[in-house]
Amino acid sequence: RATVVAIDGPAGSGKSSVARAVARELGFRFLDTGAAYRALAWLVLERGGDTDDEPTVLAALERLGTLELTVEPAGQRVAIDGHDVTEAIRSERISAAVSGVARTLPARSAVNERFRAIIADAEPGIVAEGRDITTVVAPDADVRVLLTADEAVRIRRRFGDVGGDEFQVGARLAARDASDSKVIDFLTAADGVTVVDSTDLTFDETVDAIVRLVRD
Ligand code: C5P
Repeated sequence: RATVVAIDGPAGSGKSSVARAVARELGFRFLDTGAAYRALAWLVLERGGDTDDEPTVLAALERLGTLELTVEPAGQRVAIDGHDVTEAIRSERISAAVSGVARTLPARSAVNERFRAIIADAEPGIVAEGRDITTVVAPDADVRVLLTADEAVRIRRRFGDVGGDEFQVGARLAARDASDSKVIDFLTAADGVTVVDSTDLTFDETVDAIVRLVRD
């Protein structure tokens, strides 16, 4: 049976790059679940729709069958409706709109089914990251981690990635966490979930801490 490593955490916690590095180190597959929500948000915006309007999100959901998510640790490719959106879904416009999609419960259950199928198929193992992997998508994962860091540190790291105005970066990150945490509690560790606080850790130390949990 494939080894499943589930990692959850807030925006800017470094989940994605850490999870990818853990996967590479272990020779596992890598699944960034936020990409599916982002691809749906992209589809809604592409059609001039509003992600806060549930019927619009439900209409976009009908195209979920066209979503392609590769699970290569070297870099996940994302396509929807025949468009490669790997880069496009990282835009600030998508980040600002994605919570509306994530709030739509039928969207959550539909993408979760996709994630579970991908996870079940992943040999020899997979590192899946998101907000509800340890609790909803793969609560029976072999290793479950909540990756956190103080908000100021997360903002500084995100600012280092995207640049712009640090105050604005901080406000956006806090707004997205506030909006997301109305739907999913990704700020407290569920039973059996190990908290890895990266506030005072380097990137490599954070990766090592998780790799050790898997190897032990
Ligand atoms: O992790 P990332 O920032 O790419 O996630 C984008 C958005 O997708 C989050 O802000 C959240 O709204 C949603 N999401 C979610 N559940 C997950 C992963 C992401 O609701 N497991």
